[in-house]
Amino acid sequence: MFDIQEIRSQFSILDREVNGKPLVYLDNAATSQKPNSVLEVCHAYYTELNANVHRGIHTLSQLATEEMELSRRKIQKFINAEHDFEVIFTKGTTEGLNLIAYILTQKLQKDDEIIISYLEHHSNIVPWQMLCERTGAKLRVIPIDENGILQMDYFDQFLSEKTKVVSVNQVSNALGIVNPVEEIIAKTRKNTDAYVVIDGAQSAPHFNIDVQKMDCDFFVFSGHKMYAPMGTGILYGKREILEALPPFHGGGEMIATCSFEGTTYAGLPFKYEAGTPNVGGNIALGAAVDFMNRVGHTHIQNHENALLEYAQRQLLEIEGIKIYGEKARRTGVVSFNLEGVGIASDVGMILDKMGIAVRTGHHCTQPIMNFFNIAGTVRASFAVYNTFEEIDALVEGVRKAQRMLS
Ligand code: PMP
Repeated sequence: MFDIQEIRSQFSILDREVNGKPLVYLDNAATSQKPNSVLEVCHAYYTELNANVHRGIHTLSQLATEEMELSRRKIQKFINAEHDFEVIFTKGTTEGLNLIAYILTQKLQKDDEIIISYLEHHSNIVPWQMLCERTGAKLRVIPIDENGILQMDYFDQFLSEKTKVVSVNQVSNALGIVNPVEEIIAKTRKNTDAYVVIDGAQSAPHFNIDVQKMDCDFFVFSGHKMYAPMGTGILYGKREILEALPPFHGGGEMIATCSFEGTTYAGLPFKYEAGTPNVGGNIALGAAVDFMNRVGHTHIQNHENALLEYAQRQLLEIEGIKIYGEKARRTGVVSFNLEGVGIASDVGMILDKMGIAVRTGHHCTQPIMNFFNIAGTVRASFAVYNTFEEIDALVEGVRKAQRMLS
């Protein structure tokens, strides 16, 4: 049974008012709210368990270590990784992508190619540009059509023996477009021995993830977009690849032995987890996975798809609205502008006065905005706790903004 009121009751923040109106939180692609079960785990960690992990002989250190490693196994199951040590704790997608781009440095040389797409978040663009600067490799970018769909014939043409990395997101945070990652991975495997990186920041909160079935080499996502605290995230990498590649940060935790003559590195996952981790956050990420499992992936997806369907239908009744991205290929996000209203943030400000939180601007995807020749969009993005009444409030707010601004 999917009981939306019961779900909402687990998020205390949803009871608050903003500008004297009940909060309507539709900025979930920027970050989701956190259920009380996750907040309680954070609180319990610092009130009952706080200690540094892995090195301690004392009880608290051992308990904290056990909890963090239990969380790692929950996340392993959540993405269906073969081994728990293939799950690396990071502080988010951005760190995961930078880590991958850094450790691949020695694998690329001048004129090798890295394929990304027009739909990428800046964090899946800039680390590759920096890798190109270090190595002389070149970036190839799969273009999109006017519906925001990747033009796969270009991808087919780009693939060659020069391709060393293919890195794309599974879902675009700006438009909500679902990319054909299975096709991208299959074609890459067939034609190259490139590494395949999937940015799952916008898909992990909404989809059932199976990294083995997907057969990607790396999969990265952020905890804060899937009901977990800020500053948490995951890098999944295939065992043999992570074992073969060099470390990223050097420091404590990641060594086996350290002397001035030379250092040997720890095994997985610790080789990639230098320094003191965000223990409480990492444990709470496991609690967020528990929350999602309790609700159930089918319920999450069905509800979010129903919200999108409803929002799309209601918004399209507004004259002069333009929604970006092919509806049939979208999930969880509606990104739009109003004809005659030059600045998306003006709409966002009016909505805020009504207690409605949406994001306006370029959503860290300036190439998409350049493609559509716009400065930004208004983006409403959904989570499992959103309601049809909140969509009604959004639509009413957008109508009001249109009246005030045009
Ligand atoms: N990629 C995508 C698709 C995203 O949605 C985001 C976050 N909006 C990121 C990367 C970056 O994630 P973070 O800021 O949590 O590191």
